[in-house]
Amino acid sequence: MSNVRTDPDILALEPHALWQIFSAICARPHASGHETELREYIRDFALARGCEVKTDEIGNLLLSKAASNGCEHAKSVVLQAHLDMVTQKNSDLQFDFLIDAIKPIVAGNKVTATGTTLGADNGIGVAAALAVITADNIQHGPLQCLFTVEEETGLFGASALTAEFVNADIMLNLDGEDLREIYIGCAGGARTTVTFEFMPEPVAKNYIGMKVTITGMKGGHSGADINAGRGNAHKELAMFLSQAAENLSIQLSDIHGGNADNAIPRESFVTFALPGNEVEALESFTAGYLKKAIERLGARAPDFKLKVNSTDCPDTVFPAEFQQQLLKAINESPDGVIALSKTVPGLVETSTTLAIITTTANEVTLKSSQRSAINQQRELLSKSLLELWSVYGGIGVIDSEYPGWEPQLESTIITTAVEAYQQELGFKPQPTAIHAGLECGIIGGLNPAMEIISFGPDIDAPHSPDENVDIASVMDFWVVLLEILHKIAT
Ligand SMILES: [Zn+2]
Repeated sequence: MSNVRTDPDILALEPHALWQIFSAICARPHASGHETELREYIRDFALARGCEVKTDEIGNLLLSKAASNGCEHAKSVVLQAHLDMVTQKNSDLQFDFLIDAIKPIVAGNKVTATGTTLGADNGIGVAAALAVITADNIQHGPLQCLFTVEEETGLFGASALTAEFVNADIMLNLDGEDLREIYIGCAGGARTTVTFEFMPEPVAKNYIGMKVTITGMKGGHSGADINAGRGNAHKELAMFLSQAAENLSIQLSDIHGGNADNAIPRESFVTFALPGNEVEALESFTAGYLKKAIERLGARAPDFKLKVNSTDCPDTVFPAEFQQQLLKAINESPDGVIALSKTVPGLVETSTTLAIITTTANEVTLKSSQRSAINQQRELLSKSLLELWSVYGGIGVIDSEYPGWEPQLESTIITTAVEAYQQELGFKPQPTAIHAGLECGIIGGLNPAMEIISFGPDIDAPHSPDENVDIASVMDFWVVLLEILHKIAT
């Protein structure tokens, strides 16, 4: 079989140039971390059409083109999209994302792929940007396209950019998924890790081993789901243990749980030693505690379970004072939503999540993550956590910091975009923001004076084999993009 493909249906769609390029993108594998073939195709395509081209070490691609006649003094614009796509397929399909071409098809008023993700996220954005920069009849000021790598796996391409590589007055990020929304903000983040060191102590003779498991909490993404108030398994466990320890001779040995620093923990576990004659008292305390906890958590954690079981007696335990300090450190750590946005109603501005606890022979480590659209708020929050933990003997560090994108309801580019939507499509887009990281936050952090918005066509079910893009919305997106460029240029 020939590997030259044509997609007659796709190639017949308008805008013609955009769909031609999208079809060429689909024909070249571009899983995250494997963007080379697509990048080289785009580089050659752009060079052949008079663009300047450069790449950086990680593989980000920048195309530049001079302003069209008479628009030389307009503000410079960078059109930005990511080269990589999520690779998901139906389990019954034989498909190798590193070799095989995505097969887009027209299904009613949508374009979708057969059994795989389509890569409209962000292939339509890449195609639109390329269609603009390689056209000779579109009015624009000094223009660039920035195509990043490895967005889907952790914004790695954007994180490797430098201010020297990309610099413009305005950035139009083309990675939106809802035609009726324009993004004007996102959260930045940081991770804080604190270590509490202890000298393990032997367990007294009459003690036996017990364990407590907390399971069944809802968890979720520590950004997108933080406003649901689903509760944190580690906080629940620490609260239980400190109340139980008021009347019982509990000696903790190992506390752990959580497996990702961007997830709200659903489960938390502890092993401890207890005098054999206190087991009954522990069981009756647990029954009473559990009843109140279930009432308190209610619908936010309907499957919450707290179980106490016997287990092998641990060899060593935490010193009594260390245990008390550690539980205080966990109990007193703020967790969840810290502040709501004053600009965008309902948006979480700042939050923190105690995500992971681990215990080794002589250390307990807590990992937590902070997010905020406002960098200073995030920095203050991370520092205040370190200060709190240091009171209880913990030594902490802050790392993995990346900047947020603070929503400003009034900026020239937002006004321009809203006017373009109104004029071309007859409606005003909804300015919106998310409490999670976007490339815009990171790229904007390189040049705080750069004005940014993010928008795109209607993409449903991205990151799944059902991914599809609405054909009419691609035309609307294209028309608005051209009008925004026109307004900036003139
Ligand atoms: Zn995307």
